[in-house]
Amino acid sequence: MDAPRKTPAYDATLADHGFDPVEAEGLTYPLGDFEPKYGEYFELMPGIGWTRTPVPGPLGHINNWILDDVHANGEPGFAIVDTGLFMPAVIESWKKLFETGLNGRKATKIVVTHYHPDHVGCAGWLANRFKAPLYMNRTEWLMARMLIADNGEEVPAEALEQWRFAGWDQHLIDNFEKKGWGRFARAVSRLPLGHIRLDEEDILPIGGNDWRIMIGKGHTPEHACLVDDRNHVMISGDQILPRITSNISVMLSEPTADPLGEWLESIKRFRAELDPDLLVLPAHGRPFKGALQRLDTLAARHNEALDDLADALAEKPMRVVDSFPLLFSRPIGEDVIGMASGEAMATLRHLEYTGRAVHEVKDGTAWYRAS
Ligand SMILES: [Zn+2]
Repeated sequence: MDAPRKTPAYDATLADHGFDPVEAEGLTYPLGDFEPKYGEYFELMPGIGWTRTPVPGPLGHINNWILDDVHANGEPGFAIVDTGLFMPAVIESWKKLFETGLNGRKATKIVVTHYHPDHVGCAGWLANRFKAPLYMNRTEWLMARMLIADNGEEVPAEALEQWRFAGWDQHLIDNFEKKGWGRFARAVSRLPLGHIRLDEEDILPIGGNDWRIMIGKGHTPEHACLVDDRNHVMISGDQILPRITSNISVMLSEPTADPLGEWLESIKRFRAELDPDLLVLPAHGRPFKGALQRLDTLAARHNEALDDLADALAEKPMRVVDSFPLLFSRPIGEDVIGMASGEAMATLRHLEYTGRAVHEVKDGTAWYRAS
């Protein structure tokens, strides 16, 4: 640990690009409003490339990071961090990038921060195309493998029960039942049978740089972030996003868990350990500085939501769906009600875990009140 530090390999201020930095909500975006197009290779700094692939819906895109690496035989290659959804427009973006931006080089490693389809979607396809190993946290890899296999057509009873628990009306439950199950498998390519595990404090060498793994919890069970301490760069996946708030939901895979509690714990830990000067490369949005500021904002927002909800529960009992107007600034339609319910349940659950609320179930629906 006390070995002399090597000189940084590149200028993480990104000032040499000549963009005008933008400041917003205490964060600095060194590249201003710049963002690469789908399938376009943009050299962020020597050794780190940035591209984007499309994600349908309000998200619009995911950032994919291309890190210079070297193959075992000494040939130059690149590692890919986060892979995009497995769908035709994304595959087209990747092919365009491989043909134009990367000069025929081949991938050495496919790295995935967590199991969500926009991150793991093309991982199997890319690993197979380049015969490159897949690097993932073991839990995240197992989650992805498990959900790919869970591709039955019929909506399972546990899902119907959870929707009723949240207070969805029968008409809505019927609609969702008609939509069927197994959406994950449709957006994710088949994963290899093996993976190389990314665990807390592991060091993943890529090119000349050492990336330290930090595991965050709450958004997914064990989300891997990559931190290059020497160069003050972090690939944060969905663990730290600059504008949108990461979805924190109670999931069917762990229906009694307290994901918001785990998320707040991770924020506290990252807040204490991260270098304030880090350049953060998030999965959605633009590279920014101000990780600690952002973590403070996220924690404050969740704590405010918890307080508002606790106050409301002191007034009258509520179902999960009754908490939407308090928690979300826009009306919750069918397109987002699944996520909104998961998120509201996580907030109510954390109130229960901290002794501020209790619930009882009437006709399958949970009614929460202050304790
Ligand atoms: Zn995610």
